Amino acid sequence: MAKNHHVIFTKRPGVNGEPAEDNFGYEECDYPCDPQNNEVLLKTLYLSVDPAMRCRLNEETGVTYIGPFQIGDRIGGFGGIGVVVKSACPAFQEGDVVHAGFNWQWAKYFLETPRELFQLGKIDSSLVNGKVSLYLSILSLTSGLTSYLGVKEKGHVIPGANQTMVVSGAAGACGSLAGQIGKLEGCSSVVGTCGSSEKCQFLTKELGFDSAINYKTQDVSSELQRVCPTGVDVYFDNVGGDLSNIIIQQMNADSHVVLCGQIAVYNKDVPYPPPIPEEVQKTLRDKNITRDRYLVLNYPDKFESGMKQLVQWTLQGKLKVRETIAEGLEHAGKAFVSMMKGGNIGKQLVHVGDS
Ligand code: NDP
Repeated sequence: MAKNHHVIFTKRPGVNGEPAEDNFGYEECDYPCDPQNNEVLLKTLYLSVDPAMRCRLNEETGVTYIGPFQIGDRIGGFGGIGVVVKSACPAFQEGDVVHAGFNWQWAKYFLETPRELFQLGKIDSSLVNGKVSLYLSILSLTSGLTSYLGVKEKGHVIPGANQTMVVSGAAGACGSLAGQIGKLEGCSSVVGTCGSSEKCQFLTKELGFDSAINYKTQDVSSELQRVCPTGVDVYFDNVGGDLSNIIIQQMNADSHVVLCGQIAVYNKDVPYPPPIPEEVQKTLRDKNITRDRYLVLNYPDKFESGMKQLVQWTLQGKLKVRETIAEGLEHAGKAFVSMMKGGNIGKQLVHVGDS
């Protein structure tokens, strides 16, 4: 019988600890039986690696839409791409290359029903110029849809209004797309913050950001004043923490924060969204800045139109992406740890197999 492998959860990092490679194990396991009752047997090609998995490593996730892993559990991630090996589901046939946005098992082969795999769909490679991994790095729930719907629903971008957008975590999966989408939607200037000079170069030289600030080596406050002389109108916040507090202080009256993520505090025992200092709250109040919680999952009726727009931009070459690809399922845990520390540029993926 063919061999199978999966990633399991072995050790909690602790609510105040950084995730480490030994939180994950890699084991040989049984090859799945034949699919029954609408199941499909999938072979994994690519996995999406997402910061939201961090909360599942705690005993309580602090959110309602995903639960914690228990020690010994098989890791179920977010998106994945695979090929149907066998199917007991009439909608899918052997050989179909498929993608899904949720619950993709970190296994070489696994059985699942399309219902459990959020929006399991066939891949049309003509929509991604033949590069199937773009289904995860641009067209997935936790990449392009998060960025696009965040800008559209919470950014209040008005074409021709001379708005300046700042994006934190700008060289990552959501941030790199959010900045480009901000420009496409009509912002006159887009500035990214990120953690290395290589990432800054990527933003300005490859993606068309107007400026980039390395928050680890530069004085963010004075740099922002220099590159955003008319203040900040839209802030797409992927990171939270001190960096966001500095950026919010430079926002204009009636401006908008897209509260996408707060990765700077994911290794801290604080609620989500975390409390912000009183002086920042005062700025938000005094300047009438909106900062509502944003969760892409709350906009299911917008997914189809969002996807259409992302496909159009992709085919027109208007959205550029970088992928950081770890090779082999055995390195999936390491890829997660690396991404949480900034080891990725663009979307962090794992390449598991070929069709
Ligand atoms: P990224 O590809 O952006 O990877 C994470 C990045 O976070 C790292 O590369 C690193 O970049 C940065 N980072 C890590 N620690 C810190 C820190 N202490 N301060 C500042 N930056 C840090 O991940 P995603 O694009 O997948 O996710 C981005 C954010 O979007 C996350 O907060 C995630 O939870 C959120 N998200 C929200 C969704 C929603 O529905 N609201 C859906 C999907 C994602 P650097 O080198 O620049 O430090």
